[in-house]
Amino acid sequence: MSAITFCTLCENKGVSGIFRCEGCSQTFCLQHTNEHRQYLTHQLKEIMLENEAIFKCFTDNKQSSLLFDQINQWEKDSIVKVQQTAQNARLQIQQFSQVQKEQTKEKFSQINKQLEEARQTQKYLEKDLYRWKILLEQLQYDLCMLSPSIILHQDHSQGLINNIFILKKDQQSILNEKLISSSTEIYFDDNHHVAMHCGPCRAPAHVIGTQEYSSGQHQIRLFISKSTDEFILSFNIMSKLMPMSTISSDSQYLTYGWQSNDCVNPFHCSLASDKHFQDLRGKTKFHIKLFMDCDQQKISYFNEKTKQTREINVDIQKCPLPWKLLLYLYDIGDSVRLLSSCQLS
Ligand SMILES: [Zn+2]
Ligand SMILES: [Zn+2]
Repeated sequence: MSAITFCTLCENKGVSGIFRCEGCSQTFCLQHTNEHRQYLTHQLKEIMLENEAIFKCFTDNKQSSLLFDQINQWEKDSIVKVQQTAQNARLQIQQFSQVQKEQTKEKFSQINKQLEEARQTQKYLEKDLYRWKILLEQLQYDLCMLSPSIILHQDHSQGLINNIFILKKDQQSILNEKLISSSTEIYFDDNHHVAMHCGPCRAPAHVIGTQEYSSGQHQIRLFISKSTDEFILSFNIMSKLMPMSTISSDSQYLTYGWQSNDCVNPFHCSLASDKHFQDLRGKTKFHIKLFMDCDQQKISYFNEKTKQTREINVDIQKCPLPWKLLLYLYDIGDSVRLLSSCQLS
C-alpha cells in the first residue's frame, strides 16, 4: 500500500491529493487541481497582456527610447555646460571691467586736475592741448572697447562638449562569448546570449561563459534583470582551472566579482569603504560594463545608470589565468543578457 500524499493546499485538514502537477511537483485535491490550473491560466493571460503591451510599444516605434533618452540627456548636459561656460566668461569680464573702471576714473581725475591747473595758471602750449586731446581719445576708446587687454580666446584644441555619434555593431561578430550551465533551472535564448532562471524552485545556479581570457583587456556589457531585489545575483570571474563542482564550496581557488546587494566576492577583498557602498542594492535592472584586465590582474565594473565604478585586484594565485565569466542566479525569473563583448587591448 502506497503512502497517502495529501493535497499541498489542504494538508492541515488531511485531504488526500488526487493529481500531481508535473510542473511544480505539488499534489492537489480535485478542488485545488482546478484552482491550480486556473492560476496557471491566469498567469498565461497576464503574460499575453504583457506581450500585447510590448508589441504595442514596438509598433509605436518606442523600442529605441533608451537611445533617445541618452541623446536627450547628452543634449541637456551639453546645453548646461555651454550656459555655465558663457556665464563664467561674463562674470570674468564683469570683474575685469570693474578694475578697468577704477583705473579709468583715476585717469579722468588726473586729466581733470591738469586741465583745471592749466586754466588757472594759463601755462599751456599747443603740445599740451594735443596731449590732452589724445589722452581723452584713448580714454574714450577704453570705455567703448572695455579694454584692448582683454581678448576672447577660443580654444579649438579642447572640445567643450564630447561629440556623440552612432555606431552600429554587428552583434554576431562581436559576441564570441556565450553562456552555458549545467543547472536544469537555466534556460537559454538568443544563441546562448540570454540565460534565464525558470525554476521550478528558487535554487542556486551557475552560468559560465565559454570564452577564456588570458591576456589583454576585455569588456563585457551585461543587462541583468531580477524579479525582485530580495535574493542575490552576482557577476564574477573564475579561473578556468577551477572545477565547476567546487564553485560554491571551499576550494583552493576563489571567484572575484560583485553581488546585487553590493557585497564583494571574495568577502575578504571588501575595503572598509565598501561597507556602506550603495549602487546595485534595492534595484532590479542593471546595465553593467564588466572590465577584465588580465595584464594588471584586476577587474572592474561600470554601472551605466548610476555612472559608478568599482574595482578589485585579483590574487592570481587564487584565481589563475585564463579567466572565465561566472554568473550566479538564484531567484526564479532572474536573467542575464550578454549585450556585447570585445577586446580593448
Ligand atoms: Zn504546478
Ligand atoms: Zn486541496
